[in-house]
Amino acid sequence: MVSDRSAQYVRLRRGCHLWHQQAGGWGMSNAGLVVGRDQSLLIDTLYDLRLTRRMLDAFAEHTEHAPVTTLVNTHGNGDHWFGNELVPSAEIVAARGSLADMLQVQPPDMLRLTAAATPSGLFARSIFDRFEFTGITPRLPDRLFDRELTLDIGGTCVRLIDVGPAHTAGDTIVHVPHARTVYTGDIVFAGGTPVVWHGPFDNWIAACELILGLDVQTVVPGHGPVTTKAALHATRAYLEYVHDQASARFAAGMTVGEATRTIPLGRFAELPESERLAVNVHTVYRELDPGHTQLDGPDLFGCMAELACPQPSP
Ligand SMILES: [Zn+2]
Repeated sequence: MVSDRSAQYVRLRRGCHLWHQQAGGWGMSNAGLVVGRDQSLLIDTLYDLRLTRRMLDAFAEHTEHAPVTTLVNTHGNGDHWFGNELVPSAEIVAARGSLADMLQVQPPDMLRLTAAATPSGLFARSIFDRFEFTGITPRLPDRLFDRELTLDIGGTCVRLIDVGPAHTAGDTIVHVPHARTVYTGDIVFAGGTPVVWHGPFDNWIAACELILGLDVQTVVPGHGPVTTKAALHATRAYLEYVHDQASARFAAGMTVGEATRTIPLGRFAELPESERLAVNVHTVYRELDPGHTQLDGPDLFGCMAELACPQPSP
């Protein structure tokens, strides 16, 4: 087992493996590997080239005899695909919706976001300063799929299911039936706060139900340690709670800012990255009122900055 304080290689069941970035926090995602007879499937790359290289080195004992022929990006957030160029010989597969997200936010956008002399820039710098967004050449998917795609990875059957739009515009889960294992991408933040960039909430809740209905023992989240189906119940509870609370405030005529400031997080308050509530409330308002202003990435980081580090009133 390769391990240090910040990342760990974990051997799961029957050809399934995990690279877990234990440090946690924004952008510290997991990657997975499914090893077949003579080839492997890589599930996601990481936020920068240094982190991705380290993950590939940890998997090398398997990929030397079973090279990565396919790479699936579970969705279009950079922490799951910015390292793609380091797997040049693999065919990259993603859900159709994920491509739109990949085209929208690329490494130069992250550089701009983290360089801005604004509260959102300051906040983005504080959470993303451990990543190196320069020198990355984006490598986009070679093959897009709709709804579901079954792959044969050296004799191992792997199902890709797009359960989005939910967390993002396309959210792929990777089900390995014979290992009773599912890699959920960011449908599960184990021990963290879900962030609903896209929605609708109902789709994400339906995705939780779908995973709960699978014959699986091992649930590999997009962030956080390997877990079980209990994580799906926790995710669903958070989404239902925030949706109910935000909807009630919308019905009462509150602004999105008032709603965000007055929702008590209760038992969810202890989850890290609780400031994601600002994005989640905004998404509920967009669902309830399609005319509601659509904020861009920097604006949303600005809303989270306000919640994470409120400015003293004058
Ligand atoms: Zn992520």
